[in-house]
Amino acid sequence: MPFIDLKAQYKALKSSIDSRIQKVLDHGAYVNGPEVAELETKLAQHTGTKYALACASGTDALVIPMMALGIGPGDEVITTAFSFIATAETICLVGAKPIYVDIDPATYNIDIKAIEKAITPKTKAIIPVSLYGQMADMDEINALAKKHNLHVIEDAAQSYGASYKDRKSSNASIVGATSFFPAKPLGCYGDGGAIFTNDEKLNKAMKEIREHGSETRYYHTRLGVNGRLDTIQCAILLSKLERYDWEVEQRQKIADRYNSAFAAIKTPGFVVPLVKSDRKSVWAQYTLAVPNRADFQKKLTDAGVPTSVHYPRTMPDQPWYKENTPCTHDISKARHAADHVISLPMYPDMDTATQDKIIAAVISAMK
Ligand SMILES: *Cc1c(COP(=O)(O)O)cnc(C)c1O
Repeated sequence: MPFIDLKAQYKALKSSIDSRIQKVLDHGAYVNGPEVAELETKLAQHTGTKYALACASGTDALVIPMMALGIGPGDEVITTAFSFIATAETICLVGAKPIYVDIDPATYNIDIKAIEKAITPKTKAIIPVSLYGQMADMDEINALAKKHNLHVIEDAAQSYGASYKDRKSSNASIVGATSFFPAKPLGCYGDGGAIFTNDEKLNKAMKEIREHGSETRYYHTRLGVNGRLDTIQCAILLSKLERYDWEVEQRQKIADRYNSAFAAIKTPGFVVPLVKSDRKSVWAQYTLAVPNRADFQKKLTDAGVPTSVHYPRTMPDQPWYKENTPCTHDISKARHAADHVISLPMYPDMDTATQDKIIAAVISAMK
């Protein structure tokens, strides 16, 4: 049993993916080919944003907007303590200082009250992460940002296709960044990402930064990066988008089935994931909290069920970050999460028999 079955998805889409890849091989525009603009149009439509820019990774999708917004040395950026390391890494890469704050333990997303306490005259931006596929409290975050004149960059690496009230993930603040790493809900066959905004000036700046800071070829008006997404990856994503909405529905059905099967487990410390009623998760992960993770994980491994921990340490507790970006706020809830969370297999093509086996292993581990 795989943790994520990407091969089953490929089988289902094989003829479309193969023919789109072959088209790229035949036309030969391997960088900046026509599939790039085609994908950007589709992504913009799908998220309801004016502009979408395909880029080389989710990491670049965070670096590029920070560069475009002029975030750098001397600036503080408030973010959650509990995320994949790229969230803090990119803040450091542009020379700014990550200010880690605690989470709301119900959703594992950034706690709005903790953000407010961390704002100083040096604060330039807030980066909420839509962890496990669920968006953070974007209305409250945007209102707070407006009051203090801050930028809000949504780290939507795990939440492509998620929604919050009437807005799609990546379209709920000035700029959103997603990842197409293969294991993300919408993944390509290598590294990839995209940036979204409704702001024309910001889009122009980000487009130039993505292309070595050039307005036109060999004319460089800003510092940039090589942040383009290969044409072949855009072609693959165009095929994958064809059934993406169906995949999101499947993920929801699988999550619902897990939730109802685990409702009977009353052990203190066993917590199923909560999605707030005004939002829809894309279930990048189905993540439980358990009282004794090592014991639980061993029992599942013995039953042939793969699991994964997202994430075993908070970002400021990682060695380099502890040394260079020490934590200045209480992050005890994030630390508690890092010690207790564990994710179960989750992918749209999971069959009922496989899920039944996982459910049985979880119920038996909690007895
Ligand atoms: C995966 C991820 C990233 C980075 O994306 P890459 O495409 O791997 O560079 C950033 N933030 C979060 C929350 C992620 O999960």
